Amino acid sequence: MFLKGKRALITGSTSGIGLAIARALSAEGADIVLNGFGDADEIAKLCDEMGATHSGANLLKTDEIETMMAENGPVDILVNNAGMQHVAPVEEFPVDKFEMIIALNLVAAFHTTRLAVPGMKEKGWGRIINTASAHSKQASPFKSAYVASKHGIDGFTKTIALELAQSGVTANCISPGYVWTPLVENQIPDTMKARNMTEEEVKNDILLAKQPTKKFVQVEEVGALAAFLCREEAGNITGTNYSIDGGWTAE
Ligand code: NAD
Repeated sequence: MFLKGKRALITGSTSGIGLAIARALSAEGADIVLNGFGDADEIAKLCDEMGATHSGANLLKTDEIETMMAENGPVDILVNNAGMQHVAPVEEFPVDKFEMIIALNLVAAFHTTRLAVPGMKEKGWGRIINTASAHSKQASPFKSAYVASKHGIDGFTKTIALELAQSGVTANCISPGYVWTPLVENQIPDTMKARNMTEEEVKNDILLAKQPTKKFVQVEEVGALAAFLCREEAGNITGTNYSIDGGWTAE
């Protein structure tokens, strides 16, 4: 329970990767602040399970981020994880979608970070972990906003790591490849129908085409890496971008 007495705020933690990170940090004793949308009863259950509190702040709104940070701070661990995707050729990319993706995947992390850093500096300890993506290192066509936002969060993370290097606060990215989340699982039946493929063909030839292990990353694996970065032994790990992608970015 090496995180007893530490407060961790994880954005986008009502499902998927963020939820797994929240569970991993909670299992080590951290006080958890969840954030994200979802069914009120489901969120209440998650709060009960972890003894957590929840902020429903919409991270596209600066004033809601400011309220969330003021009401739930100071935080010792900040995980910027909320994110969204849209796939379209650049000349057809909806302008509002492009701006929204940059706002959620990148600008929101700037706001939470600028508001969390003074408290961390004061305590001489802090952990900032940003969920980036294999797309923070490599591009794919039709994902201009997502790839730009994820390359951006990589650069942002390195910059703040340097600024905070002597303060006891580390800043790192975690970059998953394809992660097994309900979002991915739910795509399989439709893709099987649309392409007349078996479940195995959809997984290997479509979803895992870029992942040499041909295995999905599990959310618990991402949670474990985040927890490791919070350990005292990780105090000299800063400004890095950890791949957890089954070899995708090794190619
Ligand atoms: P998810 O859709 O399961 O979860 C997204 C979370 O963000 C939810 O809790 C949702 O409520 C919250 N959210 C969405 N919009 C919000 C807003 N405006 N304000 C506040 N919260 C908001 O997604 P996931 O697959 O767990 O992805 C989490 C992160 O991991 C994202 O940054 C994503 O880019 C990254 N990622 C995912 C994968 C993957 O294969 N699933 C791979 C690489 C990186």
